[in-house]
Amino acid sequence: MVEHRKPIPVSEAVARMVREAKPLGTETVPLGESMGRILARPIKATHPVPPFDRSPYDGFAIRASDSAGASGENRKSFRIIDHIGAGEVSKRTVGQGEAVRLMTGAQLPEGADAVVMFEQTSEQAGAFTIRKPFEPLENVSLKGEDLQEGEQVVPAGTFIQPGTVAVLATFGYAEVEVAARPVVGILSTGTELLNVDEPLAPGKIRNSNGPMIAAQLARMGIRCKMYELSADHLENSLEAVRKAAKETDCLITTGGVSVGDFDFLPEIYRRLGAEVLFNKVAMRPGSVTTVAVARGKYLFGLSGNPSACFTGFELFTRPALLKMMGAEKIYLPHTRAVLAEDFTKANPFTRFIRAIYDGFSVRPAGFNKSNAVSSIARGNALIVLPGGTRGFREGDEADVLLLGVEEGSERWTL
Ligand code: AMP
Ligand code: MG
Repeated sequence: MVEHRKPIPVSEAVARMVREAKPLGTETVPLGESMGRILARPIKATHPVPPFDRSPYDGFAIRASDSAGASGENRKSFRIIDHIGAGEVSKRTVGQGEAVRLMTGAQLPEGADAVVMFEQTSEQAGAFTIRKPFEPLENVSLKGEDLQEGEQVVPAGTFIQPGTVAVLATFGYAEVEVAARPVVGILSTGTELLNVDEPLAPGKIRNSNGPMIAAQLARMGIRCKMYELSADHLENSLEAVRKAAKETDCLITTGGVSVGDFDFLPEIYRRLGAEVLFNKVAMRPGSVTTVAVARGKYLFGLSGNPSACFTGFELFTRPALLKMMGAEKIYLPHTRAVLAEDFTKANPFTRFIRAIYDGFSVRPAGFNKSNAVSSIARGNALIVLPGGTRGFREGDEADVLLLGVEEGSERWTL
């Protein structure tokens, strides 16, 4: 008898799955290796930035009051009493009619409260004149204008990007506490599967899902354990899944989750006593995507069909792994775009179409069946067409999920 499964909406599946994520703990890495990791602690400003009043230009530090009334006819003149570069501190105090020649980044000398750029002066030996008055603090980078001491700069759970690294360096973090990364296992099932280096044989195909998922993980900075291909054999597959689940924080299988005669994953979940969070999602491709939890560990049962497998990973596995790492922005970034082509297929279920997004419009990336591999290669986004719609026309607006973007979105917005 064919088991009857009740499809649940994608948003419900996402919610059920995310609820199960358990944090993994943290580790400390050198700053140079922190890029792409998830920050475990908020970054607080331990001192003001900049830490002292400084010059944003190459020029002269003066007392603004000495420039009062300056004009083309009434040039004010200043005597240069010192000369400093960035990193140097003048020992002099700027008095009336005096100036310190200083370079960008140099600390403002005592007494001075404005900076005159070279271009605003006409220089003589040891002196210069100006033809306009300066306001107090004109051309001065004020201590703390960027960040005040004690201010939170970046919250915990932030994806560390180059700017985050800059802030960490600013505050002297030679080492950074980041979320530990899960060890993720990949187990591809299917008697038809060959390894990448094997020649084609009758009825066989090469395993593309395993390497694809490894690459999807790699783009999240996560390593994987690649298990040997598992033929469709219940006892052997059960053992392979049991072993892999033990050795990893999270196991991704591909294939064998449908209702075919050799689809053994549902039986394997039963035998492992796993709690199945869902096994039918109202989506195309990948409606058979199954997520189960056994002993607190995720078992992701992705479809064997490459496009379904790819989509299942991006929609479900990716946010779950990010949540385990304490990330805040776990969902694919979402935008709206104009369809550049008709898509007239009816959509009984929410449809995810591999697509090419160019920043304005979006179009399907070619052959778009669930078994397609070509459209995954050509696409950089997923068009999302809601279930219950009859097709879309060129010029219609549609939801788009962006792939391969470092930082995701905080909310599931579809
Ligand atoms: P399944 O989910 O096991 O029913 O497989 C669905 C389709 O995907 C079948 O045509 C399989 O041959 C194909 N397939 C399964 N696993 C893989 C894989 N690892 N790489 C490429 N194609 C696969
Ligand atoms: Mg199969």
